[in-house]
Amino acid sequence: MSAQRREFVLPGARPQYSPDRPVRVAHIFLDLALDLDARRLTGRCRLRLAVMAEAVRSLQIDAVEMAITAVEVDGETVAFDHDGRVLTVVLPGVRLAGAALTLEIAYRVESPRRGIYFTGPDADYPDKPVQVWTQGEDEDARFWFPCFDEPGQLATSEVRVRVARPFQALANGFLVAVEEAEGERTFHWRLERPHPSYLIALVAAELSEIADGWEEIATPYYVAPGREDEARRTLGRTPAMVAFFSERFGVRYPFGRYAQACVQDFIFGGMENTATTILTDRCLLSERAATEVTWPEDLVAHELVHQWFGDLVVIRHWSHAWLKEGAATYGEILWREHIRGADDADYYRYQTAAAYLDEDRERYRRPIVTNVYTEAIELYDRHLYEKGAMVYHMIRHTLGDPGFFRALADFLGTHAHSTVETVDLLRAIERATGRNLLPLFEQYVFKAGHPEFKVSCAWDAEGSFMKVTVAQSQTVDEKTVLFDLKVTLAFGFAEGAPQRFTVRVHERSQTFCFPFAVRPLYFSFDPGNHLLKTLELEVPVELLKNQLRHDPDLMGRIFAAQTLAKQLTPAIATDLKAVLIDETVFWGLRAEVARALGGTRLPYAFAALREAAGSESVQVRRAVAAALGDDRSEESFACLVSLVDDPSDLVAAEAARALGRTKHPGARAHLARLLEERDSWNEMVRAAAVAALAQLRDDKEALDLILARTRRGVVPALRLAAIRALGPAGEGGDNRTILDALDQLAGETQFSTRMAVVAALGALKAPQALPILGRIAEEDPDGRVRRAAREATEKTREAVAQDREIRSLREAVETLQQENRDLKSRLALLEARFTSTQNVDID
Ligand SMILES: [Zn+2]
Repeated sequence: MSAQRREFVLPGARPQYSPDRPVRVAHIFLDLALDLDARRLTGRCRLRLAVMAEAVRSLQIDAVEMAITAVEVDGETVAFDHDGRVLTVVLPGVRLAGAALTLEIAYRVESPRRGIYFTGPDADYPDKPVQVWTQGEDEDARFWFPCFDEPGQLATSEVRVRVARPFQALANGFLVAVEEAEGERTFHWRLERPHPSYLIALVAAELSEIADGWEEIATPYYVAPGREDEARRTLGRTPAMVAFFSERFGVRYPFGRYAQACVQDFIFGGMENTATTILTDRCLLSERAATEVTWPEDLVAHELVHQWFGDLVVIRHWSHAWLKEGAATYGEILWREHIRGADDADYYRYQTAAAYLDEDRERYRRPIVTNVYTEAIELYDRHLYEKGAMVYHMIRHTLGDPGFFRALADFLGTHAHSTVETVDLLRAIERATGRNLLPLFEQYVFKAGHPEFKVSCAWDAEGSFMKVTVAQSQTVDEKTVLFDLKVTLAFGFAEGAPQRFTVRVHERSQTFCFPFAVRPLYFSFDPGNHLLKTLELEVPVELLKNQLRHDPDLMGRIFAAQTLAKQLTPAIATDLKAVLIDETVFWGLRAEVARALGGTRLPYAFAALREAAGSESVQVRRAVAAALGDDRSEESFACLVSLVDDPSDLVAAEAARALGRTKHPGARAHLARLLEERDSWNEMVRAAAVAALAQLRDDKEALDLILARTRRGVVPALRLAAIRALGPAGEGGDNRTILDALDQLAGETQFSTRMAVVAALGALKAPQALPILGRIAEEDPDGRVRRAAREATEKTREAVAQDREIRSLREAVETLQQENRDLKSRLALLEARFTSTQNVDID
């Protein structure tokens, strides 16, 4: 059964606006002392303010879960009130517009739950280093220093931190001084450019600094001692990236110095704090991983691009966060295009779009820009990042490269060190190119959804023309429109480049005719796949086969392969296999062929897949492994068993997951062996093995193997996978043990653990999970966990209701069957009586 789309807006959500700003913050100075063992921060926060309102008598400052010990205004101690969330300060007298004042707040933070994270060894993880780091986005800076915590307030900042030796402290900007004292040091950092509170960062740990840089811009990397080689391997392309993006964006890297620090237990992949990005240390690559895992490089590019989009130009309100997240995600594509070429970038863009399309289909549909939500962090979804990136790409496609990059340079230059909304990007485009892209923004940014195209083409031999029909099949309602777009149609011939035509598509269904002297070899809709859309093709097989072979556009070949697979015959399978096993063909196309073949579930498709299991390409072997998981044959099982021992971690992990999906009685032994023996980067393979074991339902031994990995002391990457696996493992069966385990785990302090618990509870689809989910939805300190718990609750209720419906139907059928049996036996009885009566009568 396919998933149902739900509402993005949850009950209780309302429009969110930036607050009034009675004062403007000019400068933030944090003077802090960290006690890493006691998990305590004490210090003073000095805010230099300028009065904006006509007259100001008191101020309200965000300060959550901290102890405020004293407040001074211009050196004078004043009365204050603190309710645990907001600090109200009464000024000694009325301050009028234009006046300047300095507010100094003495405060203490102990065992914080958000904002600043103290990590270190405990009984279960005795080898962990002591590390402290912060995470401000979206509204968590207020958990570690008092501030006017909204992105529209920009100020220069200074962070002065005292730590015990051998720890060092890192913050935004340049190090201006280190003061040495007995047993401790004080690090003083300063950023001379204004930025919002959510981008202020602090790291304190024992760190190795690796120097690197581009021209006068230093790009040092900070990691735990002993991980220097991994740091160079993972972050070493940073100088080249700084050069590349400085050139592409037409604005030189704006903060003079770019530091990256890798820390343990980080709750995101990375965070683009101004001039000082924090990254998860899970991105640090081993030698083998560096040859096949690409996401760390995407991550490095993403956070670097934020230094322009997000940090140099700051969003005024969270509802416009796509401006920065879309740009940073698109930056990954730009870097890939530069370093790996067009095919790689096009394919990565296709996968990026697919992530959004999945969310749109299976979770919810919303406009990218919306201010109706419960908490800003809910906006950080696949609409914001992936769909946002696709909008940047469509702008580029519409304007062409020179216009697009001119518009970006204008946008960044005009709004440097200030705040923007979506309309500012439109204005920059207009200034730089004269183009008004409001129609595009209306459809893709302010409205929800995307066109769902059904395109057919046929050759009319008599009239010698190609007839193309384009239909939009999406539901049109208050959210989604009938799209009005210019689309390129291309026709390929034996000689020369394809002929291209641009048509306006704006109706439910439109037909276009193109006369040609000879029948084109193939047809392509939106070559290059520039528009964000879904596409269903109805094209003669001959044309698709030609396109698969001859279209210079990778995406055209991929769509052809997918369409061919939907009508798979042994002959078509042979054509697809020829592509699949051709080592000269770009791996992305071969991977898509593998996926399409697997989707057919046909024996001869699986036979073709098995022939490609020995491919030289890791990515192709991986795609083959994934596709074979849908086969129940012994041959495919044997093939997967050999692939779980592949030297590549990526392939072995994929093969393990596929083994689980086969539900073959022999799968458990192989998965258990992997758990025992196979070391891999970030425990990729063992994590896949526990997920696979969860697919073997009602298997007590498999469940025990999973449960053993949910205990504290297990490497976090594996432990999280095991916790998540408890959901599918318990779905539809006896789940008491699992519920008990999850109930226990829900009390842990780590964000990622609680997210995994919620995912597992949701996957159980059991009414017994509802009380636990309800408690998390009410009480969890993190907005994302609360939202995930609410969504899981809704999903569970639906599943339970469906279940109940099916059960009541089943009961009704059983009752009917019983009644039927009763009637039959009564009838038989009557017949017997009648017969006997007759007999009697006759007698
Ligand atoms: Zn980002």
